[in-house]
Amino acid sequence: MRIVVAGAAGFIGSHFCDRLLLEGHSVWALDNFITGSAVNLKHLEGHPRFHFAEQDITRPFHLEDPVDAVANLASAASPKDYLEHPIETLEAGSAGTRSLLELALRNEARFLLASTSECYGDPLVHPQVETYWGNVNPVGPRSCYDEAKRFAEALTMAYHRKHGLRTNIARIFNTYGPRMKLDDGRVVPAFLDQALRGAPLTVFGGGTQTRSFCYVSDLVDGLYRLMLSSEPYPVNLGNPTELTILEFAERIRRHTGSRSEIVFRELPEDDPKRRCPEIARARRLLGWEPCVSLDQGLGPTVEYFRSLQAAAA
Ligand code: UDP
Repeated sequence: MRIVVAGAAGFIGSHFCDRLLLEGHSVWALDNFITGSAVNLKHLEGHPRFHFAEQDITRPFHLEDPVDAVANLASAASPKDYLEHPIETLEAGSAGTRSLLELALRNEARFLLASTSECYGDPLVHPQVETYWGNVNPVGPRSCYDEAKRFAEALTMAYHRKHGLRTNIARIFNTYGPRMKLDDGRVVPAFLDQALRGAPLTVFGGGTQTRSFCYVSDLVDGLYRLMLSSEPYPVNLGNPTELTILEFAERIRRHTGSRSEIVFRELPEDDPKRRCPEIARARRLLGWEPCVSLDQGLGPTVEYFRSLQAAAA
């Protein structure tokens, strides 16, 4: 297939491009580098089936070739990034998603939306099932991301219902691995950076809030399977092994052999208290479940962050 990947220079976007090329597809990659990095695609330069254009998806653009699939992975995704770019984040989810849906429609192509567990907000149902409508603050600091993604899901369903477009929606839970930005503020790069430098690990709040971390190769496998499916309703993709943030900090210390102390900092506003995916739908519809354990996934992730720190030194 000829596949457009928006947000190709991002953490998950770049790994998704790798997987598509490995499967023999051709990739038309787009990114405006607002949060993505050209370094994530450097290894694909000169690849005969890889094409890149610097493009803001909220601005008009034209692609010559017919395409078979459009994957929208274009959005700021870390709280630090979307708090810094709230309007761009809302535009990516709304105008950007619309222009990619129109591209898919013109080409009679399939469309994959990378959505998020943030659609559930600070969830009152645990673990989170796809049929749960969520508990989202529409005007809080995280609303620019949560509501952009919720709008993108609604828009995707509207194109599916109105035009019969073949669409898929992935609700992506916390994902980690090489190519995350060292300074993107998320807990995995933050703790690893701190642990490797021997600096204190900054646990927000009491560290009793939970997250469930999925290694990027597992996540990308789920995305790929979903894109080949005909499931229009949201499917959770994530690893259901749930940890408190304090337990996670201890794991990072153990894994890296770091002697960093743990310090407590103020909990950001609207920080979800619990997050864990129910993945029965993904198992049933896609035959998918994560197979990389946290310790296995941390190995290459630690190596990656070590190399970034060495390059910065
Ligand atoms: N967190 C933390 N210390 C940090 C960064 C994050 O304790 O230096 C916490 C944060 O408050 C949240 C969890 O780790 O409860 C995951 O945060 P992240 O920013 O990675 O993503 P989120 O799941 O909140 O979107």
